Amino acid sequence: MISSSPTTHPASTDILPVSLVWFRRDLRSFDHAALYAALKHSAAVYCVFIFDATILQGLPANDRRVWFIYESIKELAQELKKMGGSLIVLHGDPEDEIPRLAAELHASVVFANHDYEPQAIARDNIVKTRLASFNCALHTRKDQVIFEKDEVLSLAGTTFSVFTAYKNAWLKKFYAEGSDFYSKPYPVETYADRLRAFPDESIPSLQAMGFSDTSDSHMNIPAGMSGGAKLLEDFLHRIHRYDLARDYPAVKGPSYLSVHLRFGTVSVRHLVREAMACVRTVADQSGAQTWLNELIWRDFYFMILNHHPRVVGHAFKPDYDAIQWESGARAESLFAAWCEGRTGYPLVDAAMLQLNQTGYMHNRLRMVTACFLIKDLGIDWRWGERYFAQHLNDFDLSANNGGWQWAASSGCDAQPYFRIFNPVTQSEKFDAEAKFIRKYLPQLSKLSNKQIHAPWTQTTEVLELAGVRLGKDYPAPVIAHDQARKATLARYAVVKKPDEKNAPD
Ligand code: FAD
Repeated sequence: MISSSPTTHPASTDILPVSLVWFRRDLRSFDHAALYAALKHSAAVYCVFIFDATILQGLPANDRRVWFIYESIKELAQELKKMGGSLIVLHGDPEDEIPRLAAELHASVVFANHDYEPQAIARDNIVKTRLASFNCALHTRKDQVIFEKDEVLSLAGTTFSVFTAYKNAWLKKFYAEGSDFYSKPYPVETYADRLRAFPDESIPSLQAMGFSDTSDSHMNIPAGMSGGAKLLEDFLHRIHRYDLARDYPAVKGPSYLSVHLRFGTVSVRHLVREAMACVRTVADQSGAQTWLNELIWRDFYFMILNHHPRVVGHAFKPDYDAIQWESGARAESLFAAWCEGRTGYPLVDAAMLQLNQTGYMHNRLRMVTACFLIKDLGIDWRWGERYFAQHLNDFDLSANNGGWQWAASSGCDAQPYFRIFNPVTQSEKFDAEAKFIRKYLPQLSKLSNKQIHAPWTQTTEVLELAGVRLGKDYPAPVIAHDQARKATLARYAVVKKPDEKNAPD
């Protein structure tokens, strides 16, 4: 594991002749921990981003995230240029390219920000060893979270696995040092004159890397630092009613900043300062407080992944690995129906179409679709986790794994296994006027707001009048919820504790 302890940092009096900043999931030129550290401690600073050929190999040519990164990189390169530097952009294997470039530039330190994913940690360790072979060091900083690793612990010194206790300790620590201490920005501009331009400013084209321009793919999210700033500004006008609006997919309730948090085109410290300022100054502070909680959930899942890397592929609660999921041709066919939005449950299908068409899915719908896959179709949560990982613009290993294990009840602080969402009730409650359903399933639009949530319960005459032929224009349900619920309670019997004998079933 790469150390971030102060002893590995250069003493403030030692000025390094040349350093290299390696941008990864932190594509911005402001309030950037690694960039600031490099500038503060070096006479000359070069910057690099590498399109990781190994990761890109596994992605389809029209992957929206590659386009998002590409656009964000172009903007980052322009901004660094305005500041007197440049961005070296390469396509290759970072394990080879970083040591090669550091040697070419005669850099004695490579600076980067912490990455908590197991594969990234392994990659960083290899880079660190290769750099060490010519006396170059890798120094990493905390940047993408407010608190990481062991920074928030219980009084007994243990890590938390219950969110509310973690959140209370997080807030206590945050306020203990004064309200802005942990969210202070890194003033990169102070030492910007130390940035150096690299002669080759070319950026490999998307096509040369095997990708197409997906800017017209309904992603509807502006890329880069400017895109993040625009979304944040828009959200700050509505943050006070976030708590009231965030559960309704047809309403512009959430911030839509997740893809920007994923690629670091916004700074989490900036977002926390904005949320805290609203908590302090806005009369109705519950919206900002609720949103701040979501940012704390994000820290929480990073911490869980860091401490329990086994959650990748395994249940957080080990006994849940004993659950027997559906398998074989029937499971494959049910899974395909779920992926393609053909389950016959309109809210579930509309949500999956939103994901497939835009790369985004509303949080309430992530919960509904995940619960449906696991507890209605009896399919292993890891299948759904993988599908989301392939399709979500904001895919993040820690939050995605946390969300899926929450739905499967196998995670830390997850919903109890006997809590099974009813997809029709969820639909009636959170899309009562069916605006969201009608957007993605126009073939159902003529059904009334009452009829549309469960088309199969309507008479043939009603369906005919609305122009819906069940099985042709829209599928009949692939499963009966009540029966599925019973099957799920039986499936989860292996994890039933004696004190849950009276759990509802
Ligand atoms: P907002 O409501 O505006 O929230 C602000 C930010 O807080 C988000 O951008 C996100 O960074 C963070 N956040 C919000 N909710 C959560 C949460 N439950 N856990 C961790 N962080 C959270 N979020 C991802 O960023 N990447 C994922 O891959 C991901 N997969 C998920 C899978 C499932 C099954 C579930 C139930 C949730 C998942 N989430 C994931 C969490 C959440 O759904 C998204 O963060 C949110 O919908 C993004 O939209 P937003 O930016 O408008 O969120």
